[in-house]
Amino acid sequence: MIEHNFKKKFGQNFLTDTNLLSAIVSDAGITKEDQVLEIGAGAGALTTELAKRAKKVVSFEIDTDLISHLNSLGLANTEFVFEDALKKDIKEIEGYFDDNYKLVANLPYYITTPLIFKFLENSTKLTSLTIMVQKEVAERIVANCGGKDYGILTVMINFFGSAKITRIVNRKLFYPEPNVDSALVRIDLQKNKFPNVDRQKFSSLIKGAFSMRRKTLLNNLSSALSISKENLQKSLPHFDLSKRAETLNIDEFIQLYDVIYNN
Ligand code: SAM
Repeated sequence: MIEHNFKKKFGQNFLTDTNLLSAIVSDAGITKEDQVLEIGAGAGALTTELAKRAKKVVSFEIDTDLISHLNSLGLANTEFVFEDALKKDIKEIEGYFDDNYKLVANLPYYITTPLIFKFLENSTKLTSLTIMVQKEVAERIVANCGGKDYGILTVMINFFGSAKITRIVNRKLFYPEPNVDSALVRIDLQKNKFPNVDRQKFSSLIKGAFSMRRKTLLNNLSSALSISKENLQKSLPHFDLSKRAETLNIDEFIQLYDVIYNN
């Protein structure tokens, strides 16, 4: 491990286990044809493994203390960008790639959800995300409809593609050791999975539907769409709005979207 002043505020829990690093790259399905975006280079352990197996790697790192170490790795097909990936405009991020690309990262936990949403909602060239996240977040990503873990994150991932947990990772494999276990999740994106659905409008609908988990769709949607409950129920006569959002699967949400926006 390099000598480094680990910064909790940047979610710095580094990996060193070479078997695990190699397995992450394999789970992401990286080949010599692939261009890869990494978020959070850290000491460059995963970057090095990605650089060996990919055509090109672009790796963001917010901590400027790591500049000289990362540049000294001499990775010929890799470009390090010392900026905040969450704040950087997605068009500028995608400007580093002349074609489709894959995201592979051991994500800083404090930005996991906003980062996933940023890419899902705005990316035009991303084909998959293979990301190390807290185990509880992974369970929310792959949750089945009806359970407590099922929510906005699950529905939006099902809207854009499909996800699976490829491995559970013990906290002991990170340095410094975090106080939670992690899981590696692979999310494959499908372009135009629902071609007649506007992603911004769908996302607002889902956020509205889940705004108060214990309330019915009728309550939540009437506030979110600023329509009286009576008018909402009248305009959706065949939809059971007494259900809660967590009981609807992706196809039912698409039907709901269709009756609201496409009819
Ligand atoms: N990839 C390395 C590894 O697996 O050992 C480091 C992973 S560590 C969990 C997350 C890294 O993301 C840290 O190096 C941290 O400084 C960096 N980071 C945190 N927030 C960031 C941001 N907004 N943009 C870019 N990098 C960030």
